[in-house]
Order: sequence, then C-alpha cells, then structure tokens
Amino acid sequence: MVKSVPIIDLKRQYQVLKPEIDFVVKAVLESGSFILGENVRSLEEAVAGFCGVKFAVGVASGTDALELALRALGIKEGDEVITTPFTFIATVEAICGVGARPVFADIDQLTLNLNPERVRSKVTKKSRAVIPVHLYGCPAEMEVFTAIAAEYGLKIIEDCAQSLGSELKGKKSGSFGDCGCLSFFPTKNLGCCGDGGMVLTNSRDIADNLMMLRSHGSRERYRHVVTGYNSRLDEIQAAILKVKFKYLDEWNNARRRHAEKYNQMLSGLSARGCVILPVEPGGMKHTYCLYTIRVRAGKRDGLTDFLKAKGVQIAVHYPVPLHLQDVYSGFGYKKGDFPDSELAASEVLSLPLYPEITSAEIEYVCEAISEFFKRQV
Ligand SMILES: *Cc1c(COP(=O)(O)O)cnc(C)c1O
Repeated sequence: MVKSVPIIDLKRQYQVLKPEIDFVVKAVLESGSFILGENVRSLEEAVAGFCGVKFAVGVASGTDALELALRALGIKEGDEVITTPFTFIATVEAICGVGARPVFADIDQLTLNLNPERVRSKVTKKSRAVIPVHLYGCPAEMEVFTAIAAEYGLKIIEDCAQSLGSELKGKKSGSFGDCGCLSFFPTKNLGCCGDGGMVLTNSRDIADNLMMLRSHGSRERYRHVVTGYNSRLDEIQAAILKVKFKYLDEWNNARRRHAEKYNQMLSGLSARGCVILPVEPGGMKHTYCLYTIRVRAGKRDGLTDFLKAKGVQIAVHYPVPLHLQDVYSGFGYKKGDFPDSELAASEVLSLPLYPEITSAEIEYVCEAISEFFKRQV
C-alpha cells in the first residue's frame, strides 16, 4: 500500500546498478588516473555519437558547460544574449559570468519554452547569441531559432540540461545550435553522483577552444593563452555515467510511459479546466526530465499543501521568473514585463516522476489530486 511518494528517489536506481557502479568506481580508484583519462574520453565519444554531433567536451557542471560555451563562442562584456526568464537560474548565471547582459523574451504559453517570435523583437545591434532552453525535456522550436539566428547573425547555445535524448523530427536536442550544453546533476535524465556537464558541438575549433578553457586556458602544459577555468568532468563521474548511459533510452522511454499514465489519469481534470497537462508538440519527442502540470485559478498552493499532507512530494520549477529575482534587479525589469512567464511561475507544479516510479505510486498521486478538486466544489 502506497502511503507516500517521493518526487525523486535516486536510491532505487543505485540499488539496481550497485554491482556495476561499485565495480567501475573501484577500478578508477585503483587506476590512479582521476582527471581527463580514458573514461571521460570514451564517454565524450559515446554522448557525441548518441546526440549526432562531432564533438563533446566534458566539464564540471551544466552551469560551466553554458559559461564555457559562451566563452568559446566569443561572447563577452558589452554583448547581449537573449533567453527565457522561465528557466533555472544557471542559464542566466552563465551569461552574467562572461560579462554579457541577459535580455529576456517571453515564453510560449503552451510549451513554456522561449518563444522564437518574441526573441525577434529583442534583437539589437549588441545581440550576439540566443539560448533556448528545452524546459522539462520538451524540445524548443529549433528550426525557427535557427532561421532567426541566421537572419540576425546570432550564435545559438542550447540549454539541454533537462533534455538529453529529446528529439525534434528525429534529431536530438543539442545538435541544432553552435553548442549544446548538458548537465549530469543527479536529478537529470542522465545523472552522476556529484556534479558534471558536457558541451556538444560540430565545430572542431569550438571543441578545441572548450578543451583549452576547461584546463586553465592551456593547450600545452604551463603555457596559458587565455584566462581559463578549472572545469573538468572527473574520471569517477565519467565511469559512473558510462554505466548509466547504457540505460538512458530505456529510462527515457519509461519516463514517457509514466507521463502517458499521468496524462490519462488526469485527463478528466484537464477537460474540466482544473489543470493543464504538459504538451508534446507534433514531431517532437519529450523526455520528461520533469512532469510539470499547471494548476489553474490560483489553486496551485492549496493543492501543494494538500499533496504534502498526503505524503506526496512535489516541487515548483520555478516559482519566481528570473527577471523578478533580486539578483537581477539592476537590469530594470519589473512585474508585468513577461506575463506568460509570470503566469506559468504561479501555476506550475512538478509531480513525482522517475524511471523507477511504480504505477501504484502514480495512481496514488492522481487520486490525491482528484480528491483535492472534489473538495473544491
Ligand atoms: C540543471 C540545469 C542547469 C545547470 O546544471 P548544473 O549541472 O546543475 O550546473 C542549467 N540549466 C537548466 C535548465 C537546468 O535545469
């Protein structure tokens, strides 16, 4: 009998993979090779192949992947980078990290992804790049972004932290832009046991730049050509990721099945307008890093409390859009600037979803949600 449902349970996955993971971790410990060794190299090759790009460069986190990608593309102080205010803060931290100015454009109401047409109206002489985020694993409209970028001479950096394996017309997210940035944070679709990230690119020059940047701006030991970073994916994380990578497709398919079950069980509430379910636009493959519904009519926080009392862990990704964060108050944005992002921030609710979740757990969550709405009338 289900009595509570965690929003994510990383222990279940480890219990299944324990013999394999323990084995490879021990092998790294015994090898004495911890930084930029064979595991990182072979993982880079495997992920590049999977995503359909020529190069992949392992770095210390998804945040670093974004910042190093911006640096490798020459984005610097005085430049403007257009992105969504409805994302995890790391997207914008990276822009500020290279000294550029984040310029926000509002999201699409349906997918909650950056709306390409709204990007168009934010382009100025200083615009250098655009960062679409494949939020929750739902692919952004890359064909439109590619056309806009070509029209205005902008670079594209895809934030794929939540979308490893997501596809648009059979092409993987991360393979459309100049760079695609992955996160291996433990809760992502492919997570390590610490921090990790990777940058994807089809350009040898950009890959070369990234490899220099992650190692203190150095191509040759103790010869430094630019100010770099210490940002490497380490061998232990890479070895663990190689074990898990074999299961990525299987896990993503499980996520999709679980999302489908949620969609079916919540379809009645959706038809009554109580909730809005996540969409998978035609031609796209969503991988549900997060299964995030929208709760209408100001009932999100009430439902949150009700679910908590029922032992269902939920989360809000994200409660405050970035243009309204204190840290960015200096940019002069105000409430009302991006109404679709602000509305989404007040309505979104992420439900428990991970490959190992059981049908009984999903049913428990959905029954609790139904019960809440029954009590409303
Ligand atoms: C997780 C995440 C990041 C940052 O990745 P880290 O590995 O945690 O640094 C960036 N962007 C988005 C959208 C994310 O979800």
